[in-house]
Amino acid sequence: MSSHTASQRYLSTRGGSYDLSFEEVVLKGLASDGGLFIPEEIPSLPSDWASKWQHLSFEELAYEIFSLYISPAEIPSADLKDIIQRSYSTFRTKEVTPTVTLDKEKNIHLLELFHGPTFAFKDVALQFLGNLFEYFLVRRNQGKTGRDREHLTVIGATSGDTGSAAIYGLRGKKDVSVFIMHPYGKVSPIQEAQMTTVMDANVHNLAVDGTFDDCQDFVKALFADPEINKTHRLAAVNSINWARILAQITYYFHSYFTLIRSPSFLPASTIRFVVPTGNFGDILAGYFAKRMGLPSKKLVIATNENDILHRFWQTGKYEKKPVHGKEAEGGIPEDGVKAHEDGVKETLSPAMDILVSSNFERLLWFLAYRVYSTNSDPITQRRSTAGEHVKTWLNALKTQRGFSVDATILAAASEDFESERVSDTETLQTIKKIFAAPSATGESYILDPHSAVGITAALRSAQRAPPPTTHHISLATAHPAKFSRAVDMALQGEKRYSWELVLPEEFKGLEDKPRRVSKVKKSDGWEGVRRVVVAEVEAELQAAERAGK
Ligand SMILES: *Cc1c(COP(=O)(O)O)cnc(C)c1O
Repeated sequence: MSSHTASQRYLSTRGGSYDLSFEEVVLKGLASDGGLFIPEEIPSLPSDWASKWQHLSFEELAYEIFSLYISPAEIPSADLKDIIQRSYSTFRTKEVTPTVTLDKEKNIHLLELFHGPTFAFKDVALQFLGNLFEYFLVRRNQGKTGRDREHLTVIGATSGDTGSAAIYGLRGKKDVSVFIMHPYGKVSPIQEAQMTTVMDANVHNLAVDGTFDDCQDFVKALFADPEINKTHRLAAVNSINWARILAQITYYFHSYFTLIRSPSFLPASTIRFVVPTGNFGDILAGYFAKRMGLPSKKLVIATNENDILHRFWQTGKYEKKPVHGKEAEGGIPEDGVKAHEDGVKETLSPAMDILVSSNFERLLWFLAYRVYSTNSDPITQRRSTAGEHVKTWLNALKTQRGFSVDATILAAASEDFESERVSDTETLQTIKKIFAAPSATGESYILDPHSAVGITAALRSAQRAPPPTTHHISLATAHPAKFSRAVDMALQGEKRYSWELVLPEEFKGLEDKPRRVSKVKKSDGWEGVRRVVVAEVEAELQAAERAGK
C-alpha cells in the first residue's frame, strides 16, 4: 500500500454520522450527535516503514503519518508538506521533540514535548491545527473579497495551558479570530503574560471577573446561542478535535527511532510509553501509533489523584467520584483545566485535573468494535454496533454518573494499557529525587510536576518490566518554569537549585511587556461576552476591508 493514495473517511463514535471528510471533522470539532470523530479505519504502516522512515526528520515523519489519514484529494502533498513545515518551524529545537536519557541503568528516557512557543506539549498539536484552519478557510475564500469571505471565530475558556497554546497557534491567521476567556487574576502570572502580550489583531483575551467555571459557562452558552451561530461560524480548539490527536502520533514514532538508533538499545528490547494523562488525548495518539504497527509493548497511563482512568483499569467501572451536594455538569471541556465540578481535586499537576476524560470515548469505540463483533460481520454492522455501545455507555455516564463494562472489554483494554495513580506527595518526591541524581549527561534534570507524575509511574512500571530488555519512554509534557510553585516546593533548600536555573530566556521580561486584554463583567452575563465578540470581529473585518484584503 502506498502512503500517498489513502482515502480516509471519518465517523462519529455515537453512530450518528459516517463518511465524513477530514476537512469536515476538523472544522466541526464535535459531531452533531455529541460523539467524537474517528477515522473509519486505523491505517496500517507501509511494509517498508521500518527502513524507509528510520532516518526521517520530525517533519518528514509527520508527512508520512498524516498522509495515511488525509487523502491527497483533500490536501495535496505539496500543501501538506508546507503546512507541516510552517507548524514546526516555530519550535526551538531542530528535532522538535527530542528524546533524552534520564536513567541509563533503568533505561528510562524522556520524550521532551515542551520546545514549542508556549513551552507545553499542546503546542505540537495547536501549531498544526492553527495552520489547518487557515488553509481550509483561505481555500474556501479563493476569489472572494470582503464580507463574502468565510470567517472562523474560535472561542475557548482557559485556566492556563490550552489558552496560551491556542493563542500561539492561531495568532495572525487569516480569516480566523480567536477569543480566549480566563478568570481575571486566577491564572498563573506567566500564563497570563503569555496570553495577553500577544498583539496580533485577531487575538482577543477576555478577562472575566469570575471563576474558570463562569468562563466555561459563557463558552457553553455562546455555542448554544442560535443568534451568534447565524452570524458567526464558531469553532473550538479543545482536545476533542481530531487534528490534535493526529498531530500527536508523530512524536511516538520519532522517539522510537531515536531510541533504537542509540547504542544502548539491544535488538530484542521492548518499549513502554508512559503518559501523564488528563483528557486522554496524548495517550490516545500513542494507541493509534501502536495499532498502526509501532512496536510498543504497553502504554502506561499515569494519572494524578483525579484517577477515573486508573479506577477503570482496576475495576472495569468508569465513574465520576461520588459527590455531596449539587450535581454539576461540565461545559465544553477544555483539556487540562481545573474543572471546578464537584469531585475534582486541585493538584500540583493542574493540566491533568479532570473529572472525566473526553477522549476515552474514542478508545471505547475501538474496544466495542473488537469485542462485540467479528471479522465475518458486515463492516457497516460492526460499526453501528460499536456506536450503539458507546452511546449507551456515555448516556449512563451522564444520567447515572458512570457505567461498568464487561470483563471482555476490560481485558481488551488491558492488552494495550496499564495504569498508575500518583499522589502530589510522590510527585514532589520524584522531582527532588531526579534532581539529586545526575542524569546521563551529568546535569541535574528538573522535571515539571506533570512530567514527574509520568516518571513516578515509569519507575513503578520498570519494577514489573525491568531493564535491560525493557526501555521506558516517559512523556515530558511541560517545561518546569511553567509550574514554578510545585518545582519550588520540591526543590527548596537544595543547594544547587535556583529559580534562575529553570527560567528560560523567553520568559524574562515577559511580564513587563505591553498587554492587550478586555475586561468582561460577569454580571453582564454571556450576552455581554457576545456583544464583545460581535463588536471585535466587526472591527477586525472593517480593518481588513480598509486594508483592501
Ligand atoms: C494537557 C496536558 C496534559 C494532559 O494531556 P491529555 O491529552 O489531556 O491527557 C498533561 N500535561 C500537561 C502539561 C498538559 O498541558
